[in-house]
Amino acid sequence: MAMRTATTPDYPVAILGAGFAGLGLAIRLKQQGRHDFVVLERASDVGGTWRENTYPGCQCDIPSALYSFSFAPNPNWTRLFPLQEEIWDYLRDCADRYGIRPHIRFDSEVTGADWDDERGFWRLTTSQGEITARVVVTGQGGLSEPAPPDIPGVDSFAGTMFHSAHWDHDHDLRGERIAVIGTGASAIQFIPYVQPEAAKLTLFQRTPPWIMPHPDRPMRPFERRLFRRLPVLQKLLRGAIYTFFESRVLPFTKKPDLMKAGERIALKHMREQIPHDPELRAKLTPGYRMGCKRILMSNTYYKALAQPNADVVTEPIAEIRPNAIVTADGVEHEVDTIIFGTGFKVADGMAQMGVTGRDGVKLVDAWKDGPEALLGTTVAGFPNLFMIVGPNTGLGHSSMVFMVESQINYVLDAMRTVDASRAVAIDTRQDSQDAYNADLQRRLGKTVWSTGGCASWYLDENGRNRTLWPGYTFSFRRRTKAIDPAHHELIA
Ligand code: NAP
Repeated sequence: MAMRTATTPDYPVAILGAGFAGLGLAIRLKQQGRHDFVVLERASDVGGTWRENTYPGCQCDIPSALYSFSFAPNPNWTRLFPLQEEIWDYLRDCADRYGIRPHIRFDSEVTGADWDDERGFWRLTTSQGEITARVVVTGQGGLSEPAPPDIPGVDSFAGTMFHSAHWDHDHDLRGERIAVIGTGASAIQFIPYVQPEAAKLTLFQRTPPWIMPHPDRPMRPFERRLFRRLPVLQKLLRGAIYTFFESRVLPFTKKPDLMKAGERIALKHMREQIPHDPELRAKLTPGYRMGCKRILMSNTYYKALAQPNADVVTEPIAEIRPNAIVTADGVEHEVDTIIFGTGFKVADGMAQMGVTGRDGVKLVDAWKDGPEALLGTTVAGFPNLFMIVGPNTGLGHSSMVFMVESQINYVLDAMRTVDASRAVAIDTRQDSQDAYNADLQRRLGKTVWSTGGCASWYLDENGRNRTLWPGYTFSFRRRTKAIDPAHHELIA
């Protein structure tokens, strides 16, 4: 145990972000009778990604019974798969119900975090001044910074442009020539709403996604009444959905060939939705193994693209001019509005924020070969810093809320361990972190995300997956139940 001189920081715990991760931890702390934390939120309300993304059709592709906190079930979901507004309402309600709002400093963006080795706490630089905290837990999520494409001439466009995560609700799309760039989870949800409004919709597709039929449906009033009266029934539904999703782990992680069964269902779905246009079907047929990119679900996307006012362009974009998008074949596609469904900057947002740990080491340098952590939560040399939804905790098959709750258990146990040993901080051993990541990368090499023959935001520029957890979520839950003292050092 190394010795340090400790003084008192402003807060024992600072939580960054008031989305699922930050609110979840805040609620659990409250439930344990702890009221000594602050939540720093850059926006003026809670909700994270579910506050930011308001594009038409925005919906979670995980059923509501599982995409919610286990400790805060909601019998009132109106659909099997929750809509954005409803998830945002749920999170606002959780913040109120558990008395979290008084702990939140809104409009408080954290731009830097420096570990003060002398005093044994973190100095956070925020838009509202410095705050010191013994423990810092980040919950900013992996997908909060939109990534508009770096296309030549994009700034010269004279019409309207916006990203799916910053939808311009004041802009009237009716009767316009609209271009959409991107065919990911966001785009396939808003395209069916945009197409009927447009005089012409031109979709610029780089890679077609695999799309399955969507099993969404409204929750019936009697089902909601039953969930209110007998909460155990909703728990059973949650358990059944969880088990079904875990049964899909094998094809993703070890036996990608099993995905062929899903591919057959998706191709049949496409044929049913676009029965009369083989040319369009050919454009929309993926050339890589299902699962390599996120598997999407929609009953309306293909139908929208089959309408006479819709066109799918697969020729790469060469440049954008004031009134048009020009493709590599020289064709000028005149448009009034461009909507970017081009996704987010991922993975190392934390490092870019400017985090300095022990001995002045910057996280951006510690992560020069890519973001790595122990169990996606702690990084060697950065004591008392915990990341919820850190490296390799993402999922291709189930609910992130489950992973968030696992990491919350881990953080709470780490805090308990520090308190019980009268230490000031806990750090991670570099050799433990290295061994953990070597094993993780070995396992990831066999997954569909590496072998499936696609490029995706899951992989970094060296082709290494820094995003996803390659296994069952219950094994992550087991490993994050308690911290393993062998992998950590206590600082007194
Ligand atoms: P995304 O999955 O990263 O998709 C971005 C799309 O833009 C891709 O089709 C990509 O093509 C295309 N693109 C990017 N740059 C381009 C360029 N320069 N020229 C042409 N095309 C370009 O982004 P997203 O749809 O916003 O989704 C991101 C993630 O958010 C999802 O994977 C999911 O985890 C989450 N999400 C979840 C839900 C949900 O229902 N739970 C809904 C929305 C989003 P390539 O494929 O060729 O790269």
